[in-house]
Amino acid sequence: MEDFLNELNEEQRKAVLATDGPVLIIAGAGSGKTRTLTYRIAYLIKKQLAKPSEILAVTFTNKAAREMKERLTTLLGSQALPLWMGTFHSVCARILRTEAEHIGLSRNFTIYDVDDSVRALRKILSSKGLSPQKFNPKVVQSRISRLKNHFVLPENLLEQELDDEYDQIVAEVYQAYMAFLKKNEALDFDDLLIRPIQVFDDFPEIKAKYNKKFQYILVDEYQDTNHAQYLLLKRLVNERKNLCVVGDEDQSIYGWRGADIKNILNFNRDFPEARIFKLEENYRSHNNILQAANAVVRNNKSRLGKNLWTRKQDGPKIKLVVADDEADEALKVVEIIHDEMYTHKRSFKDIAILYRTNAQSRALEDQLRRNAISYTIIGGVKFYDRKEIKDVLAYLKVLVNPADSVALRRIINFPLRGVGETTVNKIERFAEMENITLFDALGRVEEVANISATMGSRVKQFYLMMKKFMELKDELNAVELASTLVSEAGIMHHYQTEYDQYESESRIENIKELFATMEQFTREREGEGRDSDLAAFLEEVSLMTDIDTWNESSNAVTLMTLHSAKGLEFPVVCITGLEMGLMPLQRTSADLKELEEERRLFYVGMTRAMESLYLTYAKYRRRYNAGTYNTPSLFLDEIPTELLEFKTRIAGTRGASRGKRKTERKAKLEAYFQNDDQNQDRSGEFFVGQKVYHETFGKGQIIQLEGSGDKMKITVHFGRDGITKKLIKKFANLTPLEEN
Ligand code: ATP
Ligand code: MG
Repeated sequence: MEDFLNELNEEQRKAVLATDGPVLIIAGAGSGKTRTLTYRIAYLIKKQLAKPSEILAVTFTNKAAREMKERLTTLLGSQALPLWMGTFHSVCARILRTEAEHIGLSRNFTIYDVDDSVRALRKILSSKGLSPQKFNPKVVQSRISRLKNHFVLPENLLEQELDDEYDQIVAEVYQAYMAFLKKNEALDFDDLLIRPIQVFDDFPEIKAKYNKKFQYILVDEYQDTNHAQYLLLKRLVNERKNLCVVGDEDQSIYGWRGADIKNILNFNRDFPEARIFKLEENYRSHNNILQAANAVVRNNKSRLGKNLWTRKQDGPKIKLVVADDEADEALKVVEIIHDEMYTHKRSFKDIAILYRTNAQSRALEDQLRRNAISYTIIGGVKFYDRKEIKDVLAYLKVLVNPADSVALRRIINFPLRGVGETTVNKIERFAEMENITLFDALGRVEEVANISATMGSRVKQFYLMMKKFMELKDELNAVELASTLVSEAGIMHHYQTEYDQYESESRIENIKELFATMEQFTREREGEGRDSDLAAFLEEVSLMTDIDTWNESSNAVTLMTLHSAKGLEFPVVCITGLEMGLMPLQRTSADLKELEEERRLFYVGMTRAMESLYLTYAKYRRRYNAGTYNTPSLFLDEIPTELLEFKTRIAGTRGASRGKRKTERKAKLEAYFQNDDQNQDRSGEFFVGQKVYHETFGKGQIIQLEGSGDKMKITVHFGRDGITKKLIKKFANLTPLEEN
């Protein structure tokens, strides 16, 4: 009956069979954590330990949820399981939408993305007369987000006397921002997580309902959950405590966004009865790749430590490729792709190119295009971030939630209908005085002072058109509604006439693509017997992550950031830009905790590779319009040289180094790592990448310089103790080492 359990190893099988009570599966990359979780769900259903509707599975991306669902369908041979499966955000949105009426929330609430939140904050800051120089809306947004994630509400802050003036003002802005969201019937991403927690605490009967519903809860990538997600899980788990979490502390890469590694490290403190399973066999990567990745991550201090092994062959060595600059690096990437295709019969889709920052993709894309290599890029300008798509979505958002003034402001004069900012501001003040929404105020434009009759009629016309479509909402399905509105509002016409032919065609194509996606969404949802209206579609779109728009079926090389690559695997992986300042990223390398997170990110990247891993590095790179000479990433030093192969040319070098003595190769590599004199700005005494000696901490390498003169701050990473220190030059007592 459970034949499929034979597709698991002994330890994985044990973890599947331990169905009752809390379970922690903690294991390294590629050891089958996600697979074990999937089989566990299949087992629960097949054994009838739970109905599909009693299972909640949380994945890190919507794409992962979709794949897990597909896998389950194959394992169980049944269609459309009524399983709750998705990201924390989508699960929360679903709970809130279901309970909306009971908790004083509109069922049609809008979800604000970070961009919408920043727009809202910009307005609030300016209405309070606060300068955007001192109070950068983006900074304030991330402060508020962090507070929310730690469950600190504005009233908690305002209760106490805050010493810091900045904090005091942030607290007030935070309060105004919450009021703004409420008035707009909008929730931001953080609200999606914390509102259900509040609901469960305030309405015990709602909590009881979900406790009864979810008999088994499973969470993948648990190492990247934040505090709010932890609190939510604690409430969702019922007295049976059937919670199974899987994760890898070495792959925790979202600390900068509030993820709390303690959630996984302290799991058995919360659940002392938890059973812990460790999976140690890696099924993904050739041995050389695994050994190299292990050697790198071993340098981190804060980890549980584990012994990951594979029965796979050693495979090729890891190829280290050195380029002159980013254009040359891109060219070498093209050579790698060609070489892999011709000598190893790979197709484009077998290959992934990873990088630390999105900006690095431009140079790569240029070369790929020039060489007619098809590629898909994840991130960058996302489909749903395109102007024409945002315009259409804003129309739809207003239809669903007329209180959403951020969306309304976007479309009120788009396409141009002669309703300027000044007019909108007048109407907005009227709305505030009357305590009505901006949309309702449009309907009463004749009462607003100082608005001409012509202007008034333009506004009214727009209002009546929107009103008409709101009334049609129940009669037409989502696609019909959207396509009629788009042509009636003149959006199609605008794109047909306002741009040159090429651009207008591509924008119209995109809008049609949006409708096609809506149609598919409606079909899928109806198949599952779930909401398929416009509100549901907009919710799905708001919760899309970069990776969710990835079309795997196309045969193309994949380009993405290291962060996006989490959980994925490819036969060939190439990690680019392995230079100090870029990987680890300068901003983050000053602090040991952050340096360790960068190292984990590198570990995540390396462990995506199944058969071949390439690491590239450019001696010179243009970033932010300025060029810098770079030293290799300190992480490269951490890979044992015997696992590395040094490459200057890609094609035609096959076998060239075979037979060469190891020492020779090593010498070459070491010579390479030594800085080339001309490549360094040595105007000052110290420079980034310089090797130095310190009496107490031993040998180190400079990773950042700030300020100048005696007060210059020098950040040094000391290899022996694995520590990073920020030292003041005057007192630093650093001696430059000969080997520079
Ligand atoms: P990550 O840490 O990157 O998320 P993971 O631990 O979730 O990795 P999976 O993605 O589940 O690992 O598995 C890695 C690869 O190994 C997949 O291709 C999977 O199908 C395969 N695999 C895992 N366990 C087994 C097994 N027992 N037999 C055969 N293949 C397996
Ligand atoms: Mg996984």
